[in-house]
Amino acid sequence: VATVSCLLPSIRNSLEPSIWKLLEEIAQEAEHKGWHLYIVGGAVRDLLLTQNNEKVLLQDIDLVVDGFHRSADVGAGVELASSIQKKYSNCRLSVHGEFQTAALLWHKDPEFGSLWLDIATSRTEFYPYPAANPEVEASSIRQDLYRRDFTINALAVRLTPPREGELLDFFGGILDLKAKEVRVLHANSFIEDPTRIYRAVRFAVRLNFEIEPQTEAYIRYAIESGIYEKLRLKNHVAPALTTRLKAELKYILEANYWKPALQLLSDLDALKCLHYQVTLDEEIWWQIRCASRWLKYLDPDNNIGHWLIRLEILISQINFKERKQLALNLQLPKESIERIKIVNILHSELQKNLINCQKVSEKYKQLYRHKLPDLILVAVNSSKKIRRIIWQYLTQWSKVETPLNGNDLKRMGYKPGPKYKVVLDKLLSLTLDGEIQSKEEAEMIVEEMMKQLN
Ligand code: ATP
Repeated sequence: VATVSCLLPSIRNSLEPSIWKLLEEIAQEAEHKGWHLYIVGGAVRDLLLTQNNEKVLLQDIDLVVDGFHRSADVGAGVELASSIQKKYSNCRLSVHGEFQTAALLWHKDPEFGSLWLDIATSRTEFYPYPAANPEVEASSIRQDLYRRDFTINALAVRLTPPREGELLDFFGGILDLKAKEVRVLHANSFIEDPTRIYRAVRFAVRLNFEIEPQTEAYIRYAIESGIYEKLRLKNHVAPALTTRLKAELKYILEANYWKPALQLLSDLDALKCLHYQVTLDEEIWWQIRCASRWLKYLDPDNNIGHWLIRLEILISQINFKERKQLALNLQLPKESIERIKIVNILHSELQKNLINCQKVSEKYKQLYRHKLPDLILVAVNSSKKIRRIIWQYLTQWSKVETPLNGNDLKRMGYKPGPKYKVVLDKLLSLTLDGEIQSKEEAEMIVEEMMKQLN
């Protein structure tokens, strides 16, 4: 961890020159307006954690403006972002009205790559009731840092004079970075915002830190108090809370460290924040790992969203009606909600039908209409025998091609029409069952069938 004095030289060395230049420019603009500007949160943490002038790829930078008169403008961040945007035609400005936070976004820019720069006006928050969304009022940088989740994320570096480069560490974040600990700022933190439990796990696993014991005790207390469950039952959970919870879950379940993170969530009993019936027992843990292995092999480019399948298995433990409701609350994608609706029915249908199939072509007919994620979800929850059939279908039978195709039938002189499908289906079945070995054999069968069909 870098030593604390003037941090500007080490920040400058760790950043791409173009990003450093941009920060300098924003700082000058803020100074011109008579405000202070700070870089805060994850960017400071990551910069302090880098060693020996290593470059940090920052794609997400949080800045905070402060220093104006208390009764003055809560929209300073927006004003600052607007003046910067005027100088950079290739960035987009978006304003989150409620919190007066502005974001400048560059997408695949030749200079900045993909960069998301948030400029907030320093603020303090009041929680009208637990797990609600914070109400915002202008205040000082200390208050702004106090509302953050962990000490390691509550560090700031001043970018404007006087004392530019000064590190602001009000809550012992540097000591915790050194001790490799995730420590919460106050006892009520997890009651106020349960997504912080997921964030604590994410940072602990990703950075290879420990959750500090008192912080762990707060997490356990928050979960045992059952507050999330009570709120859920009263339908009291703010939609923004479930959206953030989903974002954190997605973050964890798609990261390469999803396995230890999920286990830590389970050890902390934190999966209960989703629903009281969600646990990571041996069976579910096995299903998730098995599905992940299949997905890695069958969908290597991750087109399906492997994280979603892992989440669907987790919530498959909840009774059907509440599971559907949770999926809706979490605003899961449409296809995921559809899967949740049909997967149990598909499961019983395939268990019943596949067992009675003898020939490969019969098994194929049971399976070919269904999508890959549906089949994986059924497979991991089935007997070894059924799972093997589905695996053979996905890896072999679904790739089998008939020795003749529509063009060949045309070449043989048959007029295109509905008979083509009948003939080609039959050819596929015979090929799957190993009853045709060559093109010549296939042609003989086609001739025979065409005669019969006429
Ligand atoms: P990452 O590198 O994973 O993006 P980050 O620390 O930048 O980590 P963000 O989710 O981008 O994480 O959040 C930016 C900052 O906002 C955090 O460092 C933290 O200070 C604050 N923050 C984010 N979420 C919360 C929360 N739920 N409660 C309190 N503070 C939060």
